Amino acid sequence: MIKADVQKAFNAQINEELFSAYLYLSMVSYFESQNLKGFASWMRAQVIEELTHANKMVGYLNERGGEVKLETIGKPDATWKSPLAAFEAAYKHECHISACINDLYAKAVKAGDNAAALFLNWIINEQGEEEASADEVVQNLKLAQGAPGALFMLDRELGIRVPAVSVSAPAE
Ligand code: MG
Repeated sequence: MIKADVQKAFNAQINEELFSAYLYLSMVSYFESQNLKGFASWMRAQVIEELTHANKMVGYLNERGGEVKLETIGKPDATWKSPLAAFEAAYKHECHISACINDLYAKAVKAGDNAAALFLNWIINEQGEEEASADEVVQNLKLAQGAPGALFMLDRELGIRVPAVSVSAPAE
């Protein structure tokens, strides 16, 4: 049986992952409104990955005999002043999520819950990639500033991304 404080931390993280999906869905809509279909497609892949994170955690909590408590999801921003501003917000958000995951891991370790700590290995690894991939787009957008042709090329390139997900839960 999972301890109450670890369960609470997992439920909080499920909410964070669902908010992430909500935020990125808002960005999908923003990019579509700007006719940047590649950027929108990249963000759609991100939405699916965030839902997968929440899905895995729900499966894990139930597997451990815990109780899943879904809370209200916060309202995300609806617009950004530029594609760069949107991706800077996405990068900042991923850094926040990394801090949340570190906190969740620390709570699992403190509770002596080795199984929960081990379970979190996949997302600890993945968070590094999430931060890096958002930051890469931020850097590319900075290089593209003032050059509409470069933005067009980047939009085409980002449209290639497909979500790296598995529908099985809770294991990899
Ligand atoms: Mg996530």
